[in-house]
Formats: sequence, structure tokens, C-alpha cells
Amino acid sequence: MSTEVAIIGGGICGLTTAIALENRGFEPTVYESTDTYRPVGAGILLQTNALSVLDSISLAARIEASGAEIDAVPFLSPGGSRLFGFDLAFERDRFGHGFVAIHRAKLQELLLDELETTVQTGMECVSVTEPETPTVAFSDGSTVSPDCVIGADGIGSAVRAEICPTAEPRPADCIAYRGLAPAADLPGGTDPGFEVWGEGSFVGCSPLGDGRVYWYATATGPVAPDGTAVDRKSALRQRFDAYPEPVPQLLASTAADGIIVTPLADMAPLGRWSTGAVTLAGDAAHAMLPFVGQGAAQGIEDAAVLAAVLDAHETPAAAFKQYEQCRKSRAEGFVAASRRLGRLAAVDSAVGWRLRNLGIRLLPGKLSRRLRRQQAMPSRYQPASDR
Ligand SMILES: Cc1cc2nc3c(=O)[nH]c(=O)nc-3n(C[C@H](O)[C@H](O)[C@H](O)COP(=O)(O)OP(=O)(O)OC[C@H]3O[C@@H](n4cnc5c(N)ncnc54)[C@H](O)[C@@H]3O)c2cc1C
Repeated sequence: MSTEVAIIGGGICGLTTAIALENRGFEPTVYESTDTYRPVGAGILLQTNALSVLDSISLAARIEASGAEIDAVPFLSPGGSRLFGFDLAFERDRFGHGFVAIHRAKLQELLLDELETTVQTGMECVSVTEPETPTVAFSDGSTVSPDCVIGADGIGSAVRAEICPTAEPRPADCIAYRGLAPAADLPGGTDPGFEVWGEGSFVGCSPLGDGRVYWYATATGPVAPDGTAVDRKSALRQRFDAYPEPVPQLLASTAADGIIVTPLADMAPLGRWSTGAVTLAGDAAHAMLPFVGQGAAQGIEDAAVLAAVLDAHETPAAAFKQYEQCRKSRAEGFVAASRRLGRLAAVDSAVGWRLRNLGIRLLPGKLSRRLRRQQAMPSRYQPASDR
């Protein structure tokens, strides 16, 4: 009899986990709290490790064809001079995949399209009890008792309460703003995208391969906190007015009500990810600040390892122990690295940000390539019998 797997949360991690399990012959059920999937959100940058995992479940080619492949991301000073650049074409040559920027709605559509089962929407999990033989309760009063539960229900996870009852998200003193602008509006195009490291904030952008450009910006406090969307847009335009083009044009060309505002938070490392036949994955386990661009990628790595361990072990509890061993320290390394980078991005004294930018300019190419190589290779689980 096949293991009944309940996945709580149908975001990037939950959907990818379900696809990875289906590829191995499981028939998982995904329970998602929202009533319907809507084509919302801005862009997302999927890095090499994410694409390598997505390739293993036959999704990379479609994602690459639907987004924009990015081969370099120059880091610029607020004056527009080049500080540094990652050579991402190197990763494409070395690993067969590189960075891809894609609209989140398109990614969601591709994942839903690949999934054989239908997501059970409108199913908000309120608790998971008896972790050895788990029961999931939903807000409509219904319950299910699968063989195991994967909590992929995001940073505010309800499943986490059963595993680490005292763990709470850690707010960061930082707000992210995101939006989309038509590429045709931008002087000189935006290929290949860039990041500007300024005083207490940074701004970046990427083409999405569909005629639109995705931009993101961070600031240590909210701009126009009590104002309307139009007030917010004009405060953002003012804030980044002296940045090099196309930053001012990007903001000018973005619809005010399309700007997404996200107060940032992450999770301190949890004491454990699993108890009995219940485990956590994606942001529920290791939500991180967005500065290393690895949040979704780490959830995607979780997905492939979870499918592999469940396939290889007799019991979910043994599988989840192995999963945690394989994934926890790598994912939590990115949580810490993102915090460190976030602190650097927030430096706003004139001396401080100039020193930081000098440090970026002097970053040895060899060191950055070593870091990139570590980042580019996803966790893999291989059963002892296959080694
Ligand atoms: C500003 C910003 C920029 C980012 N940029 C990048 C990037 O470029 N690259 C990258 O890799 N990552 C990026 N990330 C991180 C990335 O967005 C997240 O790590 C990723 O979306 C997490 O996916 P998830 O499926 O784990 O969680 P979520 O996306 O939060 O999905 C959780 C799902 O569970 C559902 N749910 C919640 N509670 C319940 C419940 N009780 N019962 C049932 N369902 C429930 C939710 O509705 C949702 O569908 C960024 C994050 C931010 C904030």
C-alpha cells in the first residue's frame, strides 16, 4: 500500500514537492487555504540550484523557455559605476543551468499544469495532532488522517505549531517594494538586469522575457506609511530619484496600485524540522530574507529530497530524519547569509555605505566563484544501496 502524503500549502514548495512525489509514484494530496489561485505577484529569480532540481522533475526547460535567462548581474554604485559582477554564464556552462527570472504567476501556472492531482483549495489547516499517526484539522471542521504530513504552509505555518510551538517569525527592520514595468519604456533596455547598492537600500531589476521588467527595492522604513498607493509611488520615486537610469524610469512606469509592499521577516533556526510523521518544508522550516535570492530555491531543494527519502525509507519518521540531516544545515546557512547581507544592504551612513561598496568592488573573483559554486550545487539524497 502506498504512503498517503498530505501536503499543507500549495505555494512553490508544496506544489514542487507534490510533483516530485508524483514522479516517484506517490499520490499526494495538497491542501491550500486560499479559495482560488490568482495570477498575482511580481517576478522571481530562480538560481542554478533551483533549476537543477527542477530539471530532475522535467520542469526546467519549460521554465527557461517561459522566463528570461540571466547571464550577468552587475552591481552598481548609486552613481552608476560598476562595483562587481557575478559571471553567471560560467554557471550555465558548468552546471547546465543558470539563473532564470520569471513572473511568479507563470511559475505557478507551470507547476499547477505539471501536477497530476487537483489541489484541494479552501482548506485552511488549523492544527496537526498526534504526530506519530497524524490528524490534520481544517477550519471548516473536517479532518484527515494521512500516513504523513508535510507542512509547506509558509512563514506563518500552522503545522509548525506541532513541531516547534514557540517558534515565531523574526521581523527585520526592512521593507521590500516590488513592481513590474513595460520593458519598452526603459532607455537602453535592461539586459541583463542589475543591482544598485545605495544608502540604506538597494534596487535591482531583471527582464522577465515577456516584455516586462521586474524590479525590487528595499528600504529600512516604510515610505508614505499612511498614504495611498499613489502617495507611496511618489515617495518611492523621490527616494530613488538620484539613482542611475533606468531606476527612476522603472518607478515612473509602474502602476501605483501594482506596487507590492512586504515587511520582511525570517525564522531563526528551529530546534528540529520534524516530529514523528510530520515535517516542515520551504518557508515554514527556513524562511529567509530575500538578499541571497535563495528562499524559493531552498524550498525546491526540500521538495526533491523529501520525495527521495520517502521513496527510500520504510517509515515516514525515518525518512524525515534523513531529510532533516540532508537539508537543515544548508538551508539555515542561507538564512544566516541573508541576514548578514541584509545588514550590509541597510548601512545608511555616508562613510559606511561607501566602505561597503569599496569592499564589494575589491571582492576577489576567485572567492565569489567559490561561493557561487557552493550555492549552485543542490542537496542530493542518494540511498545507501545506490552509492
Ligand atoms: C521581496 C521578496 C523577494 C523574493 N525573491 C526571491 C527570489 O528572487 N528567489 C527566490 O528563490 N526566493 C525569493 N523570495 C523567497 C520566496 O518568495 C519564498 O521563499 C517562497 O515563495 C516560499 O515558498 P513556500 O511555498 O515555502 O511558502 P509560501 O509561498 O508562503 O506558500 C505557502 C502556501 O501555503 C498556504 N497556506 C498558508 N497557511 C496555510 C494553512 N494554514 N493551511 C493551508 N494552506 C496554507 C498559502 O496560501 C500559500 O499558498 C523572495 C521573498 C521576498 C519576500
